Amino acid sequence: EAKKQSLCAYRIFDPQMRSSMIERNALIDDIREAFDKEQFELYFQPQFNTQKGSLVGFEALVRWQHPVRGSVPPDVFIPIMEENKMIEELGRWVLMGACKEAKHWPGDLFVAVNVSPLQLRNPHFALTIGRALAQSALKPEQLELEITESVLLDENDGERSQIETWKKLGVQVALDDVGKGYSSLSYLSQFPFDKIKIDRSFLKAFEAGKPKDASAVILHAIVELGKTLGKTVIAEGVETADQLEYLRSVDCDQAQGFYLGRPMPAKEARKFIRKSRSLLWRRANMSLGS
Ligand code: C2E
Ligand code: MG
Ligand code: MG
Ligand code: MG
Repeated sequence: EAKKQSLCAYRIFDPQMRSSMIERNALIDDIREAFDKEQFELYFQPQFNTQKGSLVGFEALVRWQHPVRGSVPPDVFIPIMEENKMIEELGRWVLMGACKEAKHWPGDLFVAVNVSPLQLRNPHFALTIGRALAQSALKPEQLELEITESVLLDENDGERSQIETWKKLGVQVALDDVGKGYSSLSYLSQFPFDKIKIDRSFLKAFEAGKPKDASAVILHAIVELGKTLGKTVIAEGVETADQLEYLRSVDCDQAQGFYLGRPMPAKEARKFIRKSRSLLWRRANMSLGS
């Protein structure tokens, strides 16, 4: 009888499940230690004005370098930090670091910071923003906060008032990953966003010589919708010259992607700024129209 029971238990809690739980707990422990051991680093990916070819700002993207695991992608550790409420600490660290770094840039460049759903729902987050601005002395208009589309699916009211509170501080707010979810586009008008970021899946499907590809047509429609609503529109995931050309042809305001610049450490971003301010560099790299 006892053997039968243990067999049963064995089946419910199989070794594979146990080892993945152990692995997961080890990962959580490592994430906790990552702060003390200073294993997180901020990278910055440039964003451009598509018509002028000029640099407009950078998105801050967190990187985790673990001595044994190597480089762990944010798509792996951010969801775990979200579940364990560790994301708030990371979020404060990212926000402060991004503001301090952007203070070293020319005053017309902004830094975009990703805000997690948990931070969006925390009424104290506005204080965190205010503190980051005060301590870094960064102009509020140089800070852009990105929130991802999927968080707006549930209860909208609390979130709208959060966003309104942030806007009173003078920061810009962008909606990230637009079109990725299955949600309605109606909240593009319901929330006070300054900018919308079209999810990279639309460009992924784009192929040169196939301008009527369905995703290219949808991208065009989102650009039009965004601009009609008075938003700045940016496309992410630009990997080829053809994609950039297409974005120009549909009058998408801004672009971000590996073709234009990969996420890079702060030091390299400063060099990138210096280079991009040289007209020659811009001519060569963006083939500026006249
Ligand atoms: P995201 O905010 O949509 O960031 C853009 C992601 O696309 C980045 O991935 C970036 O490296 C990648 N990317 C940029 N250009 C291209 C391209 O041309 N092609 C392709 N295939 N990918 C491109 P990353 O850095 O791995 O970040 C993934 C996600 O993790 C981010 O998506 C964001 O949702 C989240 N994340 C990153 N840093 C933070 C952070 O500091 N806080 C929070 N809450 N989330 C973060
Ligand atoms: Mg983002
Ligand atoms: Mg995105
Ligand atoms: Mg994303």
